[in-house]
Amino acid sequence: MPRITIAVSGREWEEVMEILAARYTLFAPVIDEGYQDYEVIGKDNLHLVVFHLPRPTTPIKTFFLPVRQNVSYAWHPDKEVLLFGVPACDLAALSILDEMYLQQGYTDIYYKKRRENTVLIGTDCHDILENCHCACYGIQPYPTVQHDIRMSRTDKDCILEARTSRGEQLLEEIRNLVSIKEVTATDHAYVAATNQRVANDIINLHPQLPDYASSGELLKQAAEDVWKDHASTCVSCGACATICPTCTCFLLIDRPDFEKIRQMDACQYPGFTRVAGGEDHLHALSERFRHRYMCKYVWKPLKFNSMACTGCGRCIDACIGHINKNEILTSLASVTAS
Ligand code: SF4
Ligand code: SF4
Repeated sequence: MPRITIAVSGREWEEVMEILAARYTLFAPVIDEGYQDYEVIGKDNLHLVVFHLPRPTTPIKTFFLPVRQNVSYAWHPDKEVLLFGVPACDLAALSILDEMYLQQGYTDIYYKKRRENTVLIGTDCHDILENCHCACYGIQPYPTVQHDIRMSRTDKDCILEARTSRGEQLLEEIRNLVSIKEVTATDHAYVAATNQRVANDIINLHPQLPDYASSGELLKQAAEDVWKDHASTCVSCGACATICPTCTCFLLIDRPDFEKIRQMDACQYPGFTRVAGGEDHLHALSERFRHRYMCKYVWKPLKFNSMACTGCGRCIDACIGHINKNEILTSLASVTAS
C-alpha cells in the first residue's frame, strides 16, 4: 500500500504543532543560549522551534534510556511522547539500541515501553556541523529508518510522508485539521537536490576519512604506542561515551529495601571494569581509550547488524581534551597508505 504524503504550509504546520502539543508530550529542538536542544513544547515556546538544522546537542537515546531510573517498579507513562526534529544519525542509532535491548533473547521492558510510547518525526538536515560525518558511513542526512513520519521542506512548504501505520494514522488526522496541498514533482526534485547537496558537503568535508568497515581494520592493527599517544590529553571525563547515541553501558546499583537503580555508565571512567577483589583489566587510561574505539568499530560489528557509530560527531565536540576521533582514524589511514 502506498504510504500517505501530504504538504502543508509552514504556517499551517505551526497550527498542527500547537494541537499536537496539547495531545502529546511534544519535544522539539529549540535554540537556547546558542545551543540547539530538545525542549517540551507548549504555546509559549512554539515559535522557538527550529527546523532542519543538524543534530541537537542531546542524542535521543536519553528518551529511551534515562541517565538514572529505578527499575524496581513498573513504569507507566502519563501521555504519549512525540519527538519532532530527529536527525538521521540518531534514528540510525536506534537500530543498534533495538538490537541490544529488544532482540538479544531478552526484552528490556523499560526500553520497550518507552519505544512503544513514542512517535518519531524525523527531519532532513539542510545544513551540517563541522564534525558531522554520517554520509561518510553510508547514512544519508535524511530519515530512512526508525521513524513514523519524515518531514522534508521546500522553500515554502513542509512535506510529510508517513513511514509506518502509526504515522499514517497521524497524517490522516492532520489532513482533517488544516488545508492540505498536493505534493508536486517540483517539490520532490527540490527535496532530492537539497539531500544530495548536504550529503556531498559532508563527504567533501572529510575527504580522507576511512569508511566504517575500513576503520575497524585500521584500529585492529594499531600498536600500543598509538593509543598512548592519542590518549595523552584524555582526562577520563566520559563525555565522549555519555553523549554518544549508541553507547549504552549501565551500572545496576543496589539501594536499601532491595531497590535497583539503573544508571548510565561510561567505559572511559576510571574503575569502569573494577570488580570485587580489586581486579581492573582496563586500569590504564590508554587501554580504556582503546576499548572505546574497538567497541565501536571492531567488537560491536561482530555481534550486531547495525553500526555502532552513526557519524553524529558529538564525541568530538564534547571532548575537553580536544581529541578528534576522525583525525585519529584519518591519521591511521594515512600511515597505512604510506
Ligand atoms: S562515536 Fe562519536 S561520532 Fe560516532 S555515534 Fe558516537 S558520538 Fe557520534
Ligand atoms: S571526552 Fe575526551 S577527555 Fe573525556 S573521556 Fe572522552 S576522550 Fe577522554
